[in-house]
Amino acid sequence: MANFYTEHPELKYHLNNPMMERICQLKERDYRDKDEYDYAPQDYADAIDSYDKVLEITGEITGEVIAPNAEGVDQEGPHHANGRVEYASGTKANLDAMVKAGLNGMTMPRRYGGLNFPITPYTMCAEIVAQADAGFGNIWSLQDCIETLYEFGNEDQHSRFIPRICAGETMSMDLTEPDAGSDLQSVMLKATYDEANNCWRLNGVKRFITNGDANLHLVLARSEEGTHDGRGLSMFIYDKNDGGVDVRRIENKLGIHGSPTCELVYKNAKAELCGERKLGLIKYVMALMNG
Ligand SMILES: Cc1cc2nc3c(=O)[nH]c(=O)nc-3n(C[C@H](O)[C@H](O)[C@H](O)COP(=O)(O)OP(=O)(O)OC[C@H]3O[C@@H](n4cnc5c(N)ncnc54)[C@H](O)[C@@H]3O)c2cc1C
Repeated sequence: MANFYTEHPELKYHLNNPMMERICQLKERDYRDKDEYDYAPQDYADAIDSYDKVLEITGEITGEVIAPNAEGVDQEGPHHANGRVEYASGTKANLDAMVKAGLNGMTMPRRYGGLNFPITPYTMCAEIVAQADAGFGNIWSLQDCIETLYEFGNEDQHSRFIPRICAGETMSMDLTEPDAGSDLQSVMLKATYDEANNCWRLNGVKRFITNGDANLHLVLARSEEGTHDGRGLSMFIYDKNDGGVDVRRIENKLGIHGSPTCELVYKNAKAELCGERKLGLIKYVMALMNG
């Protein structure tokens, strides 16, 4: 059986890094989850063993499901109809296999349904997945947008959104616009506070958004009227269940066809603020990009 982890023993280099012991200790907070969750590691050796097993499962799924599907996914590509994206059939099968194996929300705390993995073994999984299908790697790896929501969102947002990502829903980061790419300070998508409904409303266009029809979006938008630079931008959470965002087109790219790169139209879409106003670009998107 093909296994993209066990066939590449050089990948273990990362797990064997001397820094890992300290990283595990910090991430596991001295292994205090062991009394509450029977699958939480007891100590460092146990943690490394569990990363190794999960990597092996990821390697098996990539070897047996994702890689064999890659050519079909690239030929079929995602479909666009009525403002929505439907993944290629192979992409759906890939996602299904990853969700069934519990490989979503990998770095999130166990209380939300995650595996509480450090970034290192998660990134190793992402590399293995991308080796099998770089397009699918984009879709699956966008789950790490949840790190930013976890870091800057409030507890209520954590409890509502993180379990959904751990259960297999997908994410996107909606930053780029037709006139704001490298220069994100020029973002113009407008966020207006709707007093009557006690929520924010988003209006405008985002372009080149990977997995743009995701369940949850992190959106950079201009909340401060009259501003023209990064100091007027905030970060919002848009939930597809609330509606108000249509996919206008999927870009016709040279490669990674399985990954839908979308143009999005926000029409009075309901959204909620993540973190504080005005820190959207200068703090949160910087953290998102570093992640
Ligand atoms: C496949 C794909 C997926 C993407 N996914 C996402 C996503 O999920 N979310 C998202 O928000 N965005 C996404 N993007 C958008 C991506 O982040 C932008 O394309 C990128 O930021 C560049 O912006 P731009 O395309 O507007 O190019 P521009 O900013 O117009 O740049 C064009 C050229 O000018 C150069 N340039 C720009 N500014 C300067 C300068 N000051 N000095 C010198 N040279 C300069 C650039 O290097 C580039 O060569 C995606 C893009 C692609 C192609």
